[in-house]
Amino acid sequence: MTHTDCLFCKIATGAIPTTRLYENDHILAFPDLNPQAPTHILIIPKDHLNSLAEATSTHTEVFGHLLSAVTEVARQQHLDGGYRTVINTGPDGGQTVGHLHLHLLGGRAMHWPPG
Ligand code: 5GP
Ligand code: ZN
Repeated sequence: MTHTDCLFCKIATGAIPTTRLYENDHILAFPDLNPQAPTHILIIPKDHLNSLAEATSTHTEVFGHLLSAVTEVARQQHLDGGYRTVINTGPDGGQTVGHLHLHLLGGRAMHWPPG
């Protein structure tokens, strides 16, 4: 289901162009506009979901596709030294775009704890 006023739905449908790094029926991966690491890719479900906080048991399968896509994209990008995956949820989680997305960050050593 696409939300016409949602930025990432528009990217998923192609209404807003992006570099489509990886996709299948369920998932799209594209570069973050404001990268925080040498490799910073967003991976989204094509069907709209505001955030993890709104997920139900109907989303279990798409979450499997989301994590499988991480492995595929990380291999494609040769992130052989490792990488960080982040899903920000809600205001306290620092989520700024209301369509669930997973950040795949790599190409440099990450720090812990995050800010
Ligand atoms: P959040 O803060 O919600 O976890 O992450 C939102 C991410 O979306 C940010 O890293 C931001 O740079 C990225 N972003 C915001 N607008 C756009 C856009 O129009 N295109 C792309 N590719 N990324 C965007
Ligand atoms: Zn959306």
